Amino acid sequence: MKLLLVEDDFELVKSLKPALKKAGYAVEHSDNGIDGQFMGEEEPFDVIILDLGLPGKPGLEVLSNWRNEGLTMPVLILTARDSWHEKVDGLKAGADDYLGKPFHTEELLARLEALVRRKFGHADNQLRHCGVTLDIGEQSVINQKNESIKLTGIEFRLLHYLVMNPSRVISKTELSEHIYEEEQLKDSNVIEVYINRLRQYLGKDFIETRRGQGYHLKEK
Ligand code: CA
Repeated sequence: MKLLLVEDDFELVKSLKPALKKAGYAVEHSDNGIDGQFMGEEEPFDVIILDLGLPGKPGLEVLSNWRNEGLTMPVLILTARDSWHEKVDGLKAGADDYLGKPFHTEELLARLEALVRRKFGHADNQLRHCGVTLDIGEQSVINQKNESIKLTGIEFRLLHYLVMNPSRVISKTELSEHIYEEEQLKDSNVIEVYINRLRQYLGKDFIETRRGQGYHLKEK
């Protein structure tokens, strides 16, 4: 899943980024409201963390602008501690959740997971498809032979995105938009390599190639 972090507190970003990556997100970061708003408009993020006190443009305005443009991605706002009116204003402007600073990283991660789950209509952290179970917390997959396989960052993000969208054909471009991080070369040709690796774990027919269109998970 691709995550945008809009936050100007350098120390917080320094501690959050590795934790978010470890939790399986491809993270992009902006330290001000102007670039942050633009990035949210230009790229299909699966979830966004938005600080309200930002240089350039206040977070609340950024959020209102996204929603006025019809953008529906889940947004969690970071508010000043005990500022109930910021929370109310944020929710009214279209935030899906909030967290007051300071917060525990574990709570942030749990709230993000819940937002992503809700976005794709899933009930818990174990996604099942045709005898395969993807464990989001462990970033591992249990295959049809009941073997548990620990996935690498890209393998996990790739399979996570496919299993979250089981009934669609997904193009290489869409996949690369949701799995690569900012410093990684967004090369959609490499996707094939990772797909083949997943096929080694899950069987050749688990992920079908639709020529000229993209990939589709095996039908139930
Ligand atoms: Ca701030």
